[in-house]
Amino acid sequence: MTTKHLAPCLLCVLVSAWIAGSAVRAAEVAVDVGHTLAASGAVSARGGKEFDFNRVLAAGVVSALSTRGLGVRPINFDGRIASLEERPRQAAGSNFFISIHHDSVQAELLEEWQWEGTPQTYSDRHSGFSLFVSRDSPDLDTSLRCASAIGARLRRMGFVGATHHADSLPGRSRPYADADNAVYYYDNLIVLYRTTLPAVLFEAGVIKHREEELALRDPERQARMADAMATGIAACLYGR
Ligand SMILES: [Zn+2]
Repeated sequence: MTTKHLAPCLLCVLVSAWIAGSAVRAAEVAVDVGHTLAASGAVSARGGKEFDFNRVLAAGVVSALSTRGLGVRPINFDGRIASLEERPRQAAGSNFFISIHHDSVQAELLEEWQWEGTPQTYSDRHSGFSLFVSRDSPDLDTSLRCASAIGARLRRMGFVGATHHADSLPGRSRPYADADNAVYYYDNLIVLYRTTLPAVLFEAGVIKHREEELALRDPERQARMADAMATGIAACLYGR
C-alpha cells in the first residue's frame, strides 16, 4: 500500500470536521448585568441596589445556561463597564443578548415608610416580570420569539407577568408585543438596537413592591427563575 492510499482526502477531512463542529457547537448567550457599581439603577423598598439584584440573578442564568450546554459570555459582572454602547459591542459574535434588570415604578406612585429605622420609598401597586424588545432591532423576529419563549416558560413555572407597562402614563407607554407572555416594545434602548444580535431586556420584577422584593431576594426562587429563563432561551435558539 502506498502513502497515496493512506492519505485521507483533504476535502473529506475538512467537510467532516465542519459537520462535526456544526453539530456540537453550542449557541453562545451574552448575559449582561444591568447598570453599574457607580450608577446602580433602581433602589428597592428596603434600600437595596438594583445592580446587586441584577448580578445575583444573572449569575444564576449563566449557571443554568451552562448546565444546558450553552456557551455563555458574561458582560459587566464587575459593574465597571464604560458605556451602554460597550455592552452590545462586547456581545458581538454571540448568538443572543439578554440584559438582566429589576424594575421600579414611576416616582408619582411612591409612598414613604421606614425600614430598619431608615426612611425608604415603596409602591405595592405593580408587580411581575416583563420582557422588552425593540422594533429597531436588526433581528426583531428572533428577539420577539425568544422573549415570548422566556415569558411562556416563566409562566409555566408559576411566575406572573406584569401588566402595567402598556397602560402607563401617556408618552411613556410600552405597547404589548405579546400580551400573554408579558413582552413589550421598548424601541429606543441602546442595548436593544445598537447590536447585530437578537436582544431582549428582562425585568425580573418590581423591587419597589415590598412583598415582591422579598420574593426576588429568595435564593430558591432566583434559581427557579434562572432555570426557567435558560429553558426558554434554549428552546428558542435550538427549537427553530
Ligand atoms: Zn434597570
